[in-house]
Amino acid sequence: MENLTDLQQLLAQYKQREAELERSEARLRMAIASANLGTWDYKPLTGELTWSDECKHLYGMAPEAEINFELFTEHIYPADRDVLELAMKRAMDPLGDHIYDITYRIIRFDSPEVRWLRAQGKVYFNKLQEPERFIGTIVDQTQAKLAEEKSAKLAAIVESSDDAIIGKNLDGVITSWNPAAERLLGYTEKDVIGKHITMLIPEDRLEEEDLILERIRSNKKVEHYVTFRVTKAGLEIPVSISVSPIRDVNGVVIGAAKIIRNNAHQKETEARLLRYAENLEVLNALGKVISERMDVSDILQKVTDATTRLIGAAFGAFFYNNVTEAGESYMLFALSGAPREAFERFGIPKNTDLFHPTFTGERIVRADDITKDPRYGQNSPFFGMPEGHLQVVSYLAVPVISKSGLVIGGLFYGHPEPAKFTREHEQLVSGVATQAAIALDNTKLYEEIRKLNDKKEEFIGLASHELKTPVTSLSGYLQILNRSLPDTDRNKPFLQKALLQVKKLSELISDLLDVSKIETGQLPLSFSNFNITQIVQETIELIQYSTKTHQIVLQQPEQEIIISADKQRIEQVIVNLLSNAIKYSPYEKLVNVAISVVHNEVRVAVQDYGMGILKEHQERIFSRFYRVEELASHISGLGIGLYISKEIITRHHGKLWLDSEPEKGSTFFFEIPLNT
Ligand code: ADP
Repeated sequence: MENLTDLQQLLAQYKQREAELERSEARLRMAIASANLGTWDYKPLTGELTWSDECKHLYGMAPEAEINFELFTEHIYPADRDVLELAMKRAMDPLGDHIYDITYRIIRFDSPEVRWLRAQGKVYFNKLQEPERFIGTIVDQTQAKLAEEKSAKLAAIVESSDDAIIGKNLDGVITSWNPAAERLLGYTEKDVIGKHITMLIPEDRLEEEDLILERIRSNKKVEHYVTFRVTKAGLEIPVSISVSPIRDVNGVVIGAAKIIRNNAHQKETEARLLRYAENLEVLNALGKVISERMDVSDILQKVTDATTRLIGAAFGAFFYNNVTEAGESYMLFALSGAPREAFERFGIPKNTDLFHPTFTGERIVRADDITKDPRYGQNSPFFGMPEGHLQVVSYLAVPVISKSGLVIGGLFYGHPEPAKFTREHEQLVSGVATQAAIALDNTKLYEEIRKLNDKKEEFIGLASHELKTPVTSLSGYLQILNRSLPDTDRNKPFLQKALLQVKKLSELISDLLDVSKIETGQLPLSFSNFNITQIVQETIELIQYSTKTHQIVLQQPEQEIIISADKQRIEQVIVNLLSNAIKYSPYEKLVNVAISVVHNEVRVAVQDYGMGILKEHQERIFSRFYRVEELASHISGLGIGLYISKEIITRHHGKLWLDSEPEKGSTFFFEIPLNT
């Protein structure tokens, strides 16, 4: 009886389980039908494994292909094999919950492609508590898994970003907050989540948020918007903001991601660039002054002013290194930003430890706080200065050294606040100092040349003046002697030669005197009306008289040409041009002279067929004492004839020029306005 009862009970249990299995299978079939699930059935006791077609499809197998447990394990992604084995073991543990749920990777049968699958199943046990059937489903999870991976990566990026990244919904409520946002703005995630974004916006910029949200709602981005945001401590900081819409899976905008970057650095760079641009401008202007001016005090004043401004010093000064027989001393040369007395009252002793390196040109001295410098002592001119008067805390001193190594002086700058001068300033000033030193060198050289030139001028003026009187007397005596001697006297030709030489000498002297007069602006002109044709004719006659080598041919218009000019000076010009034409065409015979009227001017042209003048000399032959080098040795002259001629013609509002070709000859022209 008991046995029967047992048997009956067992049967009932069996039926119950079978019904359970049926129900389970029915559920599965339903699920399969509705969700394209692959199903599998594994009998752990026999090792038998069957897959549905959908299951095979997910694995990349043909429906008719055979599957077994080994093949199945082979196609599990190696790294996931252990986890899968463990999950199966756990499900088959009779003491466990018999549930199997795992997401793992497989390598498909038809390609090396890796797919993510989720397997869910249950293990059914026989009465011996042995796993009899292990059945379940699989579904492709690749897309979901990739999305999950991507968002995990993104989350990691957001987490580790140096930029503050803030999420907000379309109402402006903060939904996420990364650690960089905490670092930048001071609030923790807890402080801000659920709060409105306006808590970060300065009051006077509140409408910015409306604009931003407006753009976001219409699915537009905001890029690198430069503005300010308020930190937890209430500080307004410069930031640059970029905002992008956040869309849901259907592409509907549901919020915005805001990246806030601290702009302090950028602002600083901008300010720096601006400063450089300004500096460059000042330096350029300064360079121009330095190269154009030849005046020491002007250069130094400009340099001091500009550098004081450039480095933002309260005052600047240039001290000149004055080395005299009495010893070394300094001299205040230029001052900027402070009255002169302020400096002179204190005086700068050169030999203090503080100034020594500057005046000896040893090095640049820069101090953030000179009052703390050990060299700053009782001796320092800045010591114990009355409040508000030339307070020097920041200090910069740069030696100005000439090319020869001589220390010309030093540029000194001060500011009442500490740490005002930087390395950049140091470089700036020393650059300008070098430029200034070169300019000063040049100026000095120029001054010396000018002084020498003045001396030469003075000498020429004096010498010709002193020579003129004895030569005039000499000429007078020779003429008296000449007249008193009968023509038959055998010494008469010598006397006449002497007279000719004295005449030449006196011409030279008066030319030199003319140069002197031109230099001092004292060449007097006496104007009268005369016929220039006549003057040209007479001059040609005069020259022709003493010239045997050349034939001077004149071409002239019929009518008289009356000009208002200094007759003697115009004659002097014609004489000079004719004698040059003869002098510089020693192997030719002809000299042409032509007079013509061009527009309202009379033009005189003197043409020779001589050696001509190279282009490079053509401009220069009109300057004082300039002679074409190659000729200087064998053709006599002082190189002042054309200089005087040019001055005379210019003073008549006319012009003098030439047309010349080497070996072919030259034509000198002058033009002066006609009487109108
Ligand atoms: P000088 O004749 O006393 O040297 P000028 O002032 O009259 O001085 O002339 C300057 C220089 O110009 C001359 O030394 C010579 O080299 C050049 N020159 C002037 N006239 C002529 C010319 N007709 N042909 C060639 N060279 C000339």
